[in-house]
Amino acid sequence: MISAAAVLVSAAVCGVGLIWLTVPSVSWGTGRKALVLILCGLIQAELARRTAHADTPGVSAAAVWVVGAALTLPLAGVMVVSAVLLTHDQFRGPRRGSHLGRVLTGTAGAALAWLVYSAAGGMLGAVLAGLAHLAATNGPTLVREARRLLRDAHHRGSIGDGMTCAALGVLLGSFAQHSLLAVPLVLLPAAYLQRAARGRALRHAAAHDPKTQLWNHAAWQTLSSAALASHRTHTAVLMVDLDHFKRLNDTYGHQAGDDVLTCVAHVLQTTTRRNDIVARFGGEEFSILLPGVTEQQACQAAERIRDQIAALTVITTNLHGRPTTIKGITASIGVATTHQGEACVDDLLVHADRWLYEAKESGRNRVCGPVLAAA
Ligand code: GH3
Ligand code: MG
Ligand code: MG
Repeated sequence: MISAAAVLVSAAVCGVGLIWLTVPSVSWGTGRKALVLILCGLIQAELARRTAHADTPGVSAAAVWVVGAALTLPLAGVMVVSAVLLTHDQFRGPRRGSHLGRVLTGTAGAALAWLVYSAAGGMLGAVLAGLAHLAATNGPTLVREARRLLRDAHHRGSIGDGMTCAALGVLLGSFAQHSLLAVPLVLLPAAYLQRAARGRALRHAAAHDPKTQLWNHAAWQTLSSAALASHRTHTAVLMVDLDHFKRLNDTYGHQAGDDVLTCVAHVLQTTTRRNDIVARFGGEEFSILLPGVTEQQACQAAERIRDQIAALTVITTNLHGRPTTIKGITASIGVATTHQGEACVDDLLVHADRWLYEAKESGRNRVCGPVLAAA
C-alpha cells in the first residue's frame, strides 16, 4: 500500500513538474486538468494491479486517459500525460518489462491524436483522434486479430478492448472540456473495462494451446460437438501426427521441435477453411473438424495438408544454438466421416485415430481413410 502511494505521488509530481517545464506559460486550468488526468490514470492502473493475479494476462487501459488528454490539453501536456502513464505501465502494469519503445510509440500516438483533433475539431475530430491513437498504438495487433478472424470463424478477438478504451477516452475528453468532475467518474467504467478484458484474456488462455495458439483439446471438443449438432450434412475429422518427431527433437533439440510445431500449426490454419476447427490434440498431434464435407473432399483436404507440411522449410536454431534449416517434415493423417450427424465427436476421433495408425503402419507420410481403403 505504501509503495503504491509512493508511486502515485512521485509519478504525479514528475508529470506536473514536466508540464511546468515544457508548456510555455502553463495556466492553472491546464495544470489542474493534467494533474487530475495523471492521478486518475495512475490510481486506475494501481487498482488494476492490486486486483490482478500474477498469472493473469493483463490489459492496460492507459489509452483512456491519454485519448482524454489529447482532447483537452496542449500538445506538450498530452505528451507528458502519455509518457508518465506509459512509463508507469512499464514498471507496474500488466506488460511490465516489455520494450521501452512502447512508451515512445504510445506518446507518438498521443501526439498524432492531438494533431488530428486540432485539425478536424468537434465530435468528428474527437472520434478520428481516438481512431488515430488506436491505429498508432495497436496497429499490428489489430491487423493480426483481423487476419485471425478472417481465418477462424470461432475466434473471439480482443479488437474490442482497444476500441472500447479509445471510445471511453473520446467520451472522457469531450466531457472533461466542460467539467473536470468527468475525469474521476470515468474511473469506474475504466475499471470494469479492464476487468472484462482480463476475463476475456483468461478465457482465451484457457481455450488455446500456448505454443501454437491453436484451440486446445477441451475447446475443440466443445466447438466440434456444437458444429456437429448444427450440421445436418456430412462432417469429417482428421487426425494429423508428425512422423518421427522424437528423432527430429533428438537431432535438432526441443527448441527446433517447438518451431516446427508452430510452423505446422500455421500450415493447418492456412490450408483449412474459416469454419474448420483446428486444435493441437497434444504433443505432435493435431485434430481438425471439417463441417459439411464428404469423405472424398475430406481426403482431398488431408492430402493438401500433407503436401503443404512436406513442402515446409523451417528456419530455426540447433542444439548448439546455431542457425539451421529443417526440411522434409512429414505427417500421417487419419480421416473419419459421418453422415447427418449420426456419430459423436469422440466416435469420429476414435475412427480417425484408427486410420492414423493404419497410415503409420503402411509407411507414414500418407493419408488413410475408409474411401481410400475401399479404392
Ligand atoms: P511416429 O512417426 O510413430 O509418430 O513417431 P514420433 O517420434 O513422432 O512419435 P513418438 O510418440 O514416439 O514421439 C513423440 C515426440 O513428440 C516425443 C516428444 O518428445 C515430442 N513432443 C511432444 N510434445 C512436444 C512439444 O511440445 N515440443 C517438442 N519439441 N516436442 C514434443
Ligand atoms: Mg504421436
Ligand atoms: Mg508422431
